[in-house]
Amino acid sequence: MDRGMISVERWSEGRQVYFLTHLHADHTNGLSSTWKRGPLCCSRITAKLFASKFPGFKLSLLRILDIGQWNSIPLVSPTTESNTTVNVIAIDADHCPGAVMYLFRGEFGCMLYTGDFHWETTGKRAEIGKSMLLSALGNDKVDILYLDNTYCNPSYYFPSREVAAQQVVDVITSHPEHDIIIGIDSLGKEDLLLHIAQALKIKIWVWRERLQIMDLLGFHDIFTTKVSVTRVRAVPRYSFSIDTLEGLNIMRPTIGIMPSGLPWKPLEGNTNVFGSSSHHSRSKLSTKVGSHTDMHKPNDNSRAMESYHEYIYTVPYSDHSCFAEIKEFIKLVQPTNLKDIVSSSSSYVDPLYYFGHLSGANLQSQGRVMNCAQIDTTDYQNGYES
Ligand SMILES: [Zn+2]
Repeated sequence: MDRGMISVERWSEGRQVYFLTHLHADHTNGLSSTWKRGPLCCSRITAKLFASKFPGFKLSLLRILDIGQWNSIPLVSPTTESNTTVNVIAIDADHCPGAVMYLFRGEFGCMLYTGDFHWETTGKRAEIGKSMLLSALGNDKVDILYLDNTYCNPSYYFPSREVAAQQVVDVITSHPEHDIIIGIDSLGKEDLLLHIAQALKIKIWVWRERLQIMDLLGFHDIFTTKVSVTRVRAVPRYSFSIDTLEGLNIMRPTIGIMPSGLPWKPLEGNTNVFGSSSHHSRSKLSTKVGSHTDMHKPNDNSRAMESYHEYIYTVPYSDHSCFAEIKEFIKLVQPTNLKDIVSSSSSYVDPLYYFGHLSGANLQSQGRVMNCAQIDTTDYQNGYES
């Protein structure tokens, strides 16, 4: 198969089919409402949300890949003009609504592209995903694993989302007189908000566009745009800052909760670390994880909530796998080659450094991997959790 016939989240011209794992901005960078470069494969939920992210997008270009079903996609070699086929199956990534990983089979062999994923050690969805992946693989080996390496560093450890969600509820109930704001993206962390709404029997305020997405996802009567009916508000991450909270506290006692696997704290001279500048906070903080006096040891897998500012709590609720979960995943897949998909900050460590020994075969260097890859992929400068 010729190189560059299909493309996973690289949106340059000239490919025959494109694949999208989920709708977070760092994965759609380059896509637009005027897209016409070719058919775009995604999950059914992603397709449902597509128009809310890209109004006017020509939806007839979307190809829905239902989870757990093999799809055969015909391709034509641009050099020999001969026909060939790539087979692909989408598997639930348990990251944000609609997020999937893709397992490809073709003349190039077998490739697994995780996109962003969070397979928890004891998670039911992860359990279903694992058995789906193993059954799809059969006796084949994954020749190249493209891995979500967001937290591929032993410094990153956090509890299950259920435990972290309860930590958020505990913070809220311990502040009965406070308004609460929670920083979220335009997609993701819905389960956390549902947990809070159910535990406290309250509605949660979201902004208008976010309410439309909640409606599309089928979450009716749980979220509201009326400020007067609830003291808990989920706000866009970009508006979550120390400045915002200090301003809110002039009017009413308010605390902010940031759910993230990143152990964020204010940087000197920067009071808006929870916006785009968090790229730097992540790299600086990575060396401090595990040394904080209030934190548990890395191997107990239970990093607790932290408060770096009188108005702000960070709670280790993450939609990415932590280091221990990544390790378990690689043990399961035993890829022949490994390639990271997130290249960012100074906390970056090549997954081969930690996991090279876990493969059934000898893992090759990144350069060799890139040379043998037949599918175009992209690296993300992922400076924040999304
Ligand atoms: Zn994501």
